[in-house]
Amino acid sequence: EVISQIEAKEELYKCYVTIAKNRAIERAKQVQEQIDSGNLTGPLAGVPVAIKDNMCIKDMLTTCSSKILSNFIPTYSSEAVIKLEEAGAIIIGKTNMDEFAMGSTTETSAYGVTKNPRNPEHVPGGSSGGSAAAVAAEECFFALGSDTGGSIRQPASYCGVVGMKPTYGTVSRYGLIAYASSLDQIGPLAKDVTDCATILEVIASHDEKDSTSIKREDTDFTKALVNDVTGMKIGIPQDYFMKGLAPQVKEAILNAAKVLKDKGAIVEEFDLGLVEYAIPTYYTIAAAEVSSNLERFDGIKYGYRTNEFDGLHDMYKKTRSEGFGKEVKSRIMLGSFVLSSGYYDAYYLKALRTKALIKKAFDTAFEKYDVILGPVAPTTAPKLGSSLNDPMKMYLSDIYTISANLAGLPGITLPCGKDEKGLPIGLQLTGNCYQEKKIIQAAYTYE
Ligand code: GLN
Repeated sequence: EVISQIEAKEELYKCYVTIAKNRAIERAKQVQEQIDSGNLTGPLAGVPVAIKDNMCIKDMLTTCSSKILSNFIPTYSSEAVIKLEEAGAIIIGKTNMDEFAMGSTTETSAYGVTKNPRNPEHVPGGSSGGSAAAVAAEECFFALGSDTGGSIRQPASYCGVVGMKPTYGTVSRYGLIAYASSLDQIGPLAKDVTDCATILEVIASHDEKDSTSIKREDTDFTKALVNDVTGMKIGIPQDYFMKGLAPQVKEAILNAAKVLKDKGAIVEEFDLGLVEYAIPTYYTIAAAEVSSNLERFDGIKYGYRTNEFDGLHDMYKKTRSEGFGKEVKSRIMLGSFVLSSGYYDAYYLKALRTKALIKKAFDTAFEKYDVILGPVAPTTAPKLGSSLNDPMKMYLSDIYTISANLAGLPGITLPCGKDEKGLPIGLQLTGNCYQEKKIIQAAYTYE
């Protein structure tokens, strides 16, 4: 069924970089045998899944939507993918994304532009835009994405599906090609909150191969699928209702808050503080980590290598000039700058200090509230092409999602309305570290 959906729609939406049809059919046969013989049970047995193209899968092309990895076939699979396959999920293919997950529209991919299935004149969001679009277009049942500054939550919101970023360290990053390692987390994009909780329960695990992986006893997330918010304290940061927030988005968010209030939650507005510092802090830290993480793509060990060169240095220079796109290059340059001696203290160190203050502001908020409620992005999905000419506007649109990454917090986004064009509006619920269950419960009750 999923393959027939792909055959009917993929030409228009372009959700995938690689479609692994034969492998999927082979796997489906094996899984069916295991199910029939009673050796495989569980909610994901036989369910088709799409994987963002920055997660390694053994023997399957993994490009990060970059020319520099146009020929990269990993020799191992990422831990999250192994967990899914152990649970019987069937990988359909690898989804399109912004190059190395840098972007908010999936337009920086070297392999074409993904379109929003709710309205193909608009972007699907990013960087996990292919994953969100594939779920929305029913070209898979669910997908994995990665979220460094909103890349699961924002495309889920633009495409009208549910997306979740867990607490930093909950899902192993082993086999996830690093963007900004201190912020990256893998998570699910799915049709509803129940599916999201079910998938997260499968992929959450302690992994010795990831030094930032956390040992948790409380990953039975489906236990939180309870339709009740009586007495739950929900805070809405007043400072989120700033200039630039589309009136229709604001209205939909306040309506969603009212729904939860009517269902018994205690809802109030408060001042979170420091909101205006999130974007410069994030883009300084993320760029610094990029400049270091992307050093490995040098044309020697794997990936693309330039054809003609004059010595080693020339080979590095030409390979990286030809292999990386414009957005990636600008971030490598910015990152190298903020880490350089002379500027390190003024930029990188200051950003780390601001990050600690942002975390503190959330700590204070969570002394009072169980859940923070707000928008996902200031507007609904922009038109194709409109953000590329205005990168500053694109960076600013990350305002509501990036602070969760800076503070390591879990967040879930789900549809809460539509604008006048019928484009989905997303609601975001953020919890304190390890409090996924509270946001799942609130989201499930709202849904
Ligand atoms: N839009 C943000 C960026 O470009 C977030 C991307 C992400 O979460 N991977 O960095």
